[in-house]
Amino acid sequence: MSLNLATTNTQSGQIKISHVFKKYGAHQALEDISLEIPAGSVTVIIGPSGSGKSTLLRTMNHLEKVDGGFIQIDGEFIGYKNKGDKLYELSEKELLKQRESVGYVFQNFNLFPHLSVLQNIIEAPLAHKKFNRQQAIAKANQLLMMVGLREKAEAFPKQLSGGQQQRVAIARALALDPKVILFDEPTSALDPELVGEVLNVIKNLAKLGKTLVIVTHEIAFAREVADYIVFMDQGKIIEQGYTEQVLEHPREERTRNFLSRVL
Ligand code: ADP
Repeated sequence: MSLNLATTNTQSGQIKISHVFKKYGAHQALEDISLEIPAGSVTVIIGPSGSGKSTLLRTMNHLEKVDGGFIQIDGEFIGYKNKGDKLYELSEKELLKQRESVGYVFQNFNLFPHLSVLQNIIEAPLAHKKFNRQQAIAKANQLLMMVGLREKAEAFPKQLSGGQQQRVAIARALALDPKVILFDEPTSALDPELVGEVLNVIKNLAKLGKTLVIVTHEIAFAREVADYIVFMDQGKIIEQGYTEQVLEHPREERTRNFLSRVL
């Protein structure tokens, strides 16, 4: 059976991050971050704990507001619209609409505990009036098949393992047909034996032509799936480039030190 999960235009989903700054109190969490992520690529962000990886990911769908700089996806400002030469923050409604094209997978799954697996997946498409109920259910079932959980449609989150819950969360993130999917340490809350099943699902997603940005400590996985690696430390991008270049021939000493500790 063929699954039609790809977006209509597989070349969309280009991310441009331009001179982004973010402070928490006196702490500079992001300092002058610029990064261009090509449409349809897989980018893995690595770096020590506290280096700003999650903060950067969260700015990409305006879960976190930037203090300076801007982010665009396919030329559209994230969190803002421009009128004349000024930027205005999007209303809550406009932001929800914009987030249809930027899926997010959280470390702790964030499924609705009182909804079944199927209801979790169809909730957003119905709320956004993206599909009618029948279409949303058909799509949810396709997505559940893709993540290997077709038989769990009627189960509730607490009846599932962590790995299964995260696979449902990935199916849910795909339900609105996003151009970009952001993964914030998608396996770090899982028991080690459940990590592989989630990484396998992400590997399959990489073949669908969507733009994936993944924060992870799984370097072996990064080596296998990523087109590009971004190494961050203390709120800055220290090094970025093709996966093999950064992981096998890092140019910066800080990257080498980090990799020697985690490999
Ligand atoms: P990483 O994902 O690399 O572990 P984070 O982006 O989570 O790093 O955090 C970067 C820095 O910003 C850390 O020092 C963290 O303590 C701080 N930080 C993150 N979120 C907040 C917040 N909501 N309030 C205050 N400080 C925060």
